[in-house]
Amino acid sequence: MESQMPAERLLPDTESEDLVALAREIAREELAPVAAEYEEAERFPRDQFRLLGKSGLLGLPYSERWGGGEVPYETYLQALEEIAAAWMSVGVGLSVHTMSCFALAHYGTDEQRDRWLPAMLGGELLGAYALSESHAGSDAAALSTRARLDGDRYVVNGTKAWITAGGQADFYTTMVRTSDDPASGGKGVSCLLVDASTPGLSAGAPNGRWG
Ligand SMILES: Cc1cc2nc3c(=O)[nH]c(=O)nc-3n(C[C@H](O)[C@H](O)[C@H](O)COP(=O)(O)OP(=O)(O)OC[C@H]3O[C@@H](n4cnc5c(N)ncnc54)[C@H](O)[C@@H]3O)c2cc1C
Repeated sequence: MESQMPAERLLPDTESEDLVALAREIAREELAPVAAEYEEAERFPRDQFRLLGKSGLLGLPYSERWGGGEVPYETYLQALEEIAAAWMSVGVGLSVHTMSCFALAHYGTDEQRDRWLPAMLGGELLGAYALSESHAGSDAAALSTRARLDGDRYVVNGTKAWITAGGQADFYTTMVRTSDDPASGGKGVSCLLVDASTPGLSAGAPNGRWG
């Protein structure tokens, strides 16, 4: 039996109302009709992420300068809710992709942002967020993936777990240990943007569904 709770959305302005309405329309017309079929076939919904990117829904909280929506989090989260209500794992993928853009959007140089962000926010490049490890879930600061500077490059050694879009993403926003000083704790962790084509990077078979 299907039951529905009435909900009234509180949004800050008409632009936000239009964006959430767009998310609802895409969710109902493009995602819901194919969700069961894709899940059954364990097929990765890459075209659907491209559609979300082209529709402006993959970079909602980020600056318009690089193609983002520049809307408040309350708008982004309500658009995400509409997508997740139609297809939960696309909702998870959308939220992880948005999170994977955060470090570059907030801490990258303009040169780095000009190079990567438009394609990331526009859906041409799909992102993954590689923080968790088999022994470092909630306790993320216990991660042991190590990055060592070798000339002007980092060499990274380690294994991540539960990485949404692992093996499908175009880039991995990856948390690595750059200091072994026990006193450094979480401060010994750095964030690297790793291109999926980096030699030596590989993904195991998905554990269950693609998320
Ligand atoms: C669908 C899905 C997608 C995910 N995608 C990603 C991803 O893209 N990238 C990524 O890096 N990770 C991802 N994760 C991993 C996720 O972010 C968590 O790190 C991981 O699920 C939690 O780790 P754990 O299973 O080892 O649980 P634990 O950390 O062992 O926790 C087990 C339980 O103990 C509780 N607990 C933990 N510490 C404490 C404490 N100090 N006090 C009280 N209670 C505590 C927790 O709330 C939980 O209920 C994903 C997980 C899921 C389920």
